[in-house]
Parts: sequence; structure tokens; C-alpha cells
Amino acid sequence: MRSSQQLSTIPKAELHVHIEGTVTPDMARLIAKRNNISLNPDIFSKDGTSYKWSGFIDLVTRVYQEMARCLQTSDDYETLMYDYLTRCAKEGAIYVEPSGYPGQCIVSGISYKDMIDGMARGMDRAKADTGIESRLTMTFERHRPDGAVSDADIILSYKHPYIVGLDIAGGEQEGDLSAFEDAYKHVLKEYGKPLGVRAHAAENIGPINGWDALHRLPLNRMGHGVRCSEDPALVQELIARNITLEICPTSNILAVKEYPDFKSHPLRKLYDAGVSITLNSDDPGLFGTTIGKEYQIAHEEFGFTEEELRAVTRNAIMASFADLETKERLLRKI
Ligand SMILES: [Zn+2]
Repeated sequence: MRSSQQLSTIPKAELHVHIEGTVTPDMARLIAKRNNISLNPDIFSKDGTSYKWSGFIDLVTRVYQEMARCLQTSDDYETLMYDYLTRCAKEGAIYVEPSGYPGQCIVSGISYKDMIDGMARGMDRAKADTGIESRLTMTFERHRPDGAVSDADIILSYKHPYIVGLDIAGGEQEGDLSAFEDAYKHVLKEYGKPLGVRAHAAENIGPINGWDALHRLPLNRMGHGVRCSEDPALVQELIARNITLEICPTSNILAVKEYPDFKSHPLRKLYDAGVSITLNSDDPGLFGTTIGKEYQIAHEEFGFTEEELRAVTRNAIMASFADLETKERLLRKI
């Protein structure tokens, strides 16, 4: 068994992380203080070191929203992006592709451009200090179908070169993908450059949602997708179409509670079947995890060897939405 110190030398890449979800309780309090905001103490555990929630919907609607309220300026987005990427770099990450919610700028009371420019400054600074590469994807919210059109308009209002893909997140039981099909199509058609396509699917609803995402969208990657493992035909379809799964082991167990423990989680099964899988932290600040910890879990709980972990990083770079030149440069580092 390798220690986390030894695994830190393995290059890592992360394709599934929500930028607001990277905010640790300490970072939330620091930014809130800077902005003279008092966050509801109910979102924190008694000792203040973690967040406190009861179930996935409580997490995304109450805790996440309350915590994200502290983000009010362009500089806040720079701070949290720089903080996250430099922490990832310390654990050996060479590439991270965070996602953001376009409508978050409205909650923050700033323009979309200011929010994206803030993130981009954090990305540039992190790259200058550590060498880490990063790109952004923008995310629709499944539980907010009436926001699909306005979110699409926001995304189209400012086409920053770092934005490379589209996603949809939120509780699968809360909304139907069909309500977002037109919004995806509209942005893909009007963006002026090709964007990668992702969707959170088959996380807490079974294979039927995996099929639904494949039928409705020109999908490149599936967020989670773990329950695709229950349908052998779907597993074969993922392989045939070269769809990469963004698997988030800790999140699957803590947030959705689809699996009671790592033993019952299908990570190994999907990898062994030949599906392109990647390792991700999802909302590391909320779940108390990191990309390094997820690699460690794959090693300790699922028996991934160092060579297999490097193969997982290769999957992530190849499935990333970065440009070809960047991908080739990163692949040479693995
Ligand atoms: Zn997610």
C-alpha cells in the first residue's frame, strides 16, 4: 500500500468539481468576513470544521446556497479558484476542469463577465505559481428548468476562451433532461466554437437516466454515471461511444447514499469492464475530500495500482475539453 505522500508523485487530473463546492468552511468564513456577511451558523458542524446537512436536496438547496452567498465580488471568485487549484497542484494535479453555475453571478450581485474574469485570474495565477492547467465548464441546474433559457443567454453573453464545455447538475429526481435539450442545442449552435458536452446522469436514478442522456445530448462525458453499471448493454454503449465517466467515490457515498460503502461501489467493476473512468471530488469543500484523497481511496479501497492510477489520469486528459496542444503537453507529463 502506498502512502498519500508516495501517491502525491502520481500526476492527477480532475474533470468533475463544482467551483462553489470547493469552498471549505474556513474559506467561507474568511470570504464572508471580508464581505461583512454573517453566514447562518446552522450550515456548519458544532466545531466548525465541516458542513452539516441532511440529505442531498438539503445540501444543494440550503447549505450550498447559504455558503455561496458569501461570494460577492470578482476577487472572491479569483480567491477561491486560486486556493483550490494550488491545493490540487500540491497533491500532484496537472489539470483541473471546474464547473460554475452561470446564474451564480446574479446571487453574487455581479455581472457574469466579472465572475468569469475573476475565476480566470485565479486560474492564471495558479498556473504561474504551480504550472497547473485548468479550463471551465458551465452548468445548467436540473431542478430549475424554468432557468434553462436565461442560463443559456448568460453563457452566450460572454465567451471567455477558458470556457470549454456545458453540463447539467442537480438532483436527478428533481427534473427532466428534456426541459434542457433546447438550451444545450442553442448554446452549442451559437457559441462560435465547439464545446464539450457533459451531463450528471445515472447517479441516483438508475440506468434509464444514463440512456436518456445518451439519447438526448451529443454527450462526451457523463457526471457520475455509476448506475450505468447495472445495465450491461449500457456499459457496452459507453465503451462503443467512448463516453468517459466522471466518478466521484466519496460524493456517491456521502451525498446521494446510493452505496452504503466503497465495497458496494461499482468503480472497479466499470474500470475492469473497459469503461473510460476518471476520479473526481465533486464538492470537496462540502465533503471534506480532495482529489488526492480520491486517488488514495481508489488505491486503498479499490486496489488501483500506480500504473492504473496513471491510466485514469490519462483518461481524464484525453476526455478533457482542453485544446489538443494542451492535452498532448499534459499527456507527456504522465
Ligand atoms: Zn457534480
